[in-house]
Amino acid sequence: MTPTALVTGVTGQDGSYLAELLLADGHDVVGLVRPGSDRWVPDGVRLVEGDVRDPERLDVVIRDVAPDELYHLAAPTFVPASWEDPEGTLDAIAGATATVLMASREIGARVVVPASPEIFGDCGVWPQNEDSPRRPRSPYGVAKLAAHELVRVMRERYDLHASSVITYNHESPRRPARFVTRKVTRGAAAIALGREQELVLGDLDAIRDWSHARDVVRGMVLAARHDEPGDYVLASGQARTVRDLVDAAFGAAGIAPEGHVRVDESFVRPPEGTPTVGDATRARTVLGWEPETSFEELVGEMVKADLAALRDR
Ligand code: GDP
Repeated sequence: MTPTALVTGVTGQDGSYLAELLLADGHDVVGLVRPGSDRWVPDGVRLVEGDVRDPERLDVVIRDVAPDELYHLAAPTFVPASWEDPEGTLDAIAGATATVLMASREIGARVVVPASPEIFGDCGVWPQNEDSPRRPRSPYGVAKLAAHELVRVMRERYDLHASSVITYNHESPRRPARFVTRKVTRGAAAIALGREQELVLGDLDAIRDWSHARDVVRGMVLAARHDEPGDYVLASGQARTVRDLVDAAFGAAGIAPEGHVRVDESFVRPPEGTPTVGDATRARTVLGWEPETSFEELVGEMVKADLAALRDR
């Protein structure tokens, strides 16, 4: 029988790449989408409507689909927004994860839930691995930590095949423009085409560890297929600043950033004491995971896509 995968959040950046990968791999893919959500839906995905903040609906969908693998990607992703709605953030991230785990237990699905380096926050240690201290610095980080720990305690108590993948920043041409990578690649493309003059950013010295979303979702599948469930950092291990990102994007667009980039306090976040950089040694050794796309290739692909999209307008 053809194996079935259920992907919550299938229309998002990660959901769409993951669905493409699973379909190519011969799976039936069912995608849970929020009513009205219409971003990327790969051909061949069967869509089911539901909001992960509705536990009864989520439970019914999981039992009905009874997937072999369940990738629970539907969740808020923009960290600053969590300050506006801490309660809703906890519900949508930790509450929904609890529902997913309980329902999976009933049907025996393998589950993968993405965590975030925000669970480490200002832990004082870098690069972070699965055992680094936790010190979240936002409601988003607290919610992700609760979900991460739920995966662990439910796995231990009920012997679930449930894995938590601590995914560092991962990007693609499908990344929404409120995230810094896409904001920069779109801005560089618009400036190169003479459509805009200026790119307004926050802290240029902020450090992140950026990978391609396609590589990260491949890590999720490896985690689901491994004999033993576990926690895995998925990261490139390379520390880059927003300034490095600007240089790479403007370079790919064939222009110099000088005179085009302005810092505005409204985009500057509170100082971060610990660089967000991951150590994916466990994923490499246990899962055989390796990122295939370099930072330069990632930024180049994004700039190329933004140039093409803007030219078509
Ligand atoms: P995050 O790591 O999930 O918060 O992903 P983002 O892409 O939103 O932010 C990455 C880093 O870029 C953070 O440290 C931000 O402080 C920094 N940054 C600098 N300028 C900007 C900006 O204009 N927009 C965003 N979103 N981030 C910025």
